Amino acid sequence: MSPAERMTPDSFSRRVLDWFDRHGRKHLPWQLQVSPYRVWVSEIMLQQTQVQTVIPYYERFMQRFPDLRALADAPLDDVLHHWSGLGYYARARNLHRAAGIVRDQFNGEFPRDFDAVTRLPGIGRSTAGAILSLACRQRFAILDGNVKRVLARFYAVDGWPGKSAVLKQLWDLSETLTPHERVAEFNQAMMDLGATVCTRARPACADCPLRDDCRAHATGLQSRYPQPKPRAPLPQRQTHMLLLVSEQTAYLERRPAQGIWGGLWSFPEFDSREALLALCDARALDSAGLETQAPLGHTFSHFHLTITPHRLRVKNPVFSVMEGTGRWYTLGRAEAVGLAAPVQRLLGRLQPKTNEDRQHGANGELRETGPRSRRA
Ligand code: SF4
Repeated sequence: MSPAERMTPDSFSRRVLDWFDRHGRKHLPWQLQVSPYRVWVSEIMLQQTQVQTVIPYYERFMQRFPDLRALADAPLDDVLHHWSGLGYYARARNLHRAAGIVRDQFNGEFPRDFDAVTRLPGIGRSTAGAILSLACRQRFAILDGNVKRVLARFYAVDGWPGKSAVLKQLWDLSETLTPHERVAEFNQAMMDLGATVCTRARPACADCPLRDDCRAHATGLQSRYPQPKPRAPLPQRQTHMLLLVSEQTAYLERRPAQGIWGGLWSFPEFDSREALLALCDARALDSAGLETQAPLGHTFSHFHLTITPHRLRVKNPVFSVMEGTGRWYTLGRAEAVGLAAPVQRLLGRLQPKTNEDRQHGANGELRETGPRSRRA
């Protein structure tokens, strides 16, 4: 039996809690005025995004939607607008939908029952455990990415945690180790330990309270755990966007609710340049002035997208150029609508340059990447 396996749950949690008392984070915005609503929003934002990135978004979100009813009653566009730039927009749509369910079915009170919480859109087992333990001090284990990493290393758990047998093993460990007292502090401590000490690259084992019994540390194989998903290279996709510009406005359309960037506003999209030109012909737009710009890359979790933008100036913005719901977006005004990061980037390119920009040249960085993983 290894030292890790010999360590009792009491000893494990005591070491982690002692470390938390001395080094844990206790002043993050969602740790002040704790409520299920505030913890819930923070947990959803942190699912795919780092703490330092989340903080300003969280504070703006709480200013605009200070409680669950404010969120439930707000238009989805407003919610997406406050999420713009955080990525993974299904999180915001689920948050909004779940807030409506809590308002209508629970009289606006966030449920305290684990099963009821996990039935809300966008809330899985670990998120429900985090909300109920951190905000309501109920004893529930958690298993977010940080906790998985600590446990996989400490016990040298082989296999990719996405596999159900490996996941079950990690959940069993987390359930066993979660103490009956100070559960909120313990869960917060495990997340902090993974985020600040047992980091993905170069874990600071010298500062870790579990070091003496950690199997990965003993063997020097920290980078081997947790094992990554075996996968093929991401597929590449191409799209063409029509950037119609008139005076200080650009034409945007709302994307369908489902699919990537669901419900956000974007430029009209085409599979090919030919399809884009055919649309120009059909709408009597003079494509002689069409200006093809440098492509923009964007990486999603499951594919790479290369966007080729085509700019076209038109004279009359009053009529709707395309079918369906479109709007002329005022450049430089930050209108209250949800925009995907590459669309924001392209709108930025369309804004008139200041004198300083002209002297120093426009931003030549064309590459975009999706948000990074949480809590580091
Ligand atoms: S000793 Fe190192 S690898 Fe093991 S849990 Fe601590 S930080 Fe992670």
